[in-house]
Amino acid sequence: MSRPTPLVAGNWKMNGLRAALAEITGMGQAYDAGLKSKLELLICPPAILIGAAADVARGTGIAIGAQDCHAKADGAHTGDIAAEMVADAGGSFIIVGHSERRADHGESDAVVHAKAQAAVRAGLKAIICVGETEAERRAGKTLDVVGRQLDGSIPASLTAANLVVAYEPVWAIGTGLTPTAADVAEVHAFIRQRLGQIIGKEAGGVRLLYGGSVKPSNAAELMGVPNVDGALVGGASLKASDFMAIAGVYR
Ligand code: PEP
Repeated sequence: MSRPTPLVAGNWKMNGLRAALAEITGMGQAYDAGLKSKLELLICPPAILIGAAADVARGTGIAIGAQDCHAKADGAHTGDIAAEMVADAGGSFIIVGHSERRADHGESDAVVHAKAQAAVRAGLKAIICVGETEAERRAGKTLDVVGRQLDGSIPASLTAANLVVAYEPVWAIGTGLTPTAADVAEVHAFIRQRLGQIIGKEAGGVRLLYGGSVKPSNAAELMGVPNVDGALVGGASLKASDFMAIAGVYR
């Protein structure tokens, strides 16, 4: 299978008021035809900005997505949003199972699995996040943990067209620390192989993103690792200049 088109995705987390949408305008201006032919770009703003972000991004080629969704399509779930609402607002991706959701909201692999199914039910793409804690890495359990998360979180019916997997070591998120290229290569090769057991032949075409302290100065090295098909970027996605410098490694 040929290499999938890379995806560089920004996760704004709980950052950004309406004024921040100007950054998407700036990203759109820098996302020229040359770059568009090389990679896809995605911004996942806070849920309340998804509709406005989709309006701002229209015509730029930048996709807009959500950082989470509920597993159900509607109902009595105060404060939650359904995947169908993300689609209705103009979103096309949903991040599920981010470690901050797993830790802050107690989301289990089963919950993440249900949310990924919800994203696909709504016609969207699921970005399923996995990754070990620092203690798990020190104990030599990285592949065990990631394997268990993949097995529990990924619906077997997903395909290369609607599934993206993000490897995000918890200890690398927002810390400025990153694994070595060799460590990333080992985990991504393992993810590709394990995905084959879960979804079969489609695994070869699934984008595997690396996430955790990606910035302009380390993007080229991390994006050059085998089986790394893009990045999930937190802090450095808030400014158009940083985000587009990361995307620019694919030029
Ligand atoms: C993230 O939260 O998905 C992330 C990768 O954050 P940061 O780039 O800030 O480490």
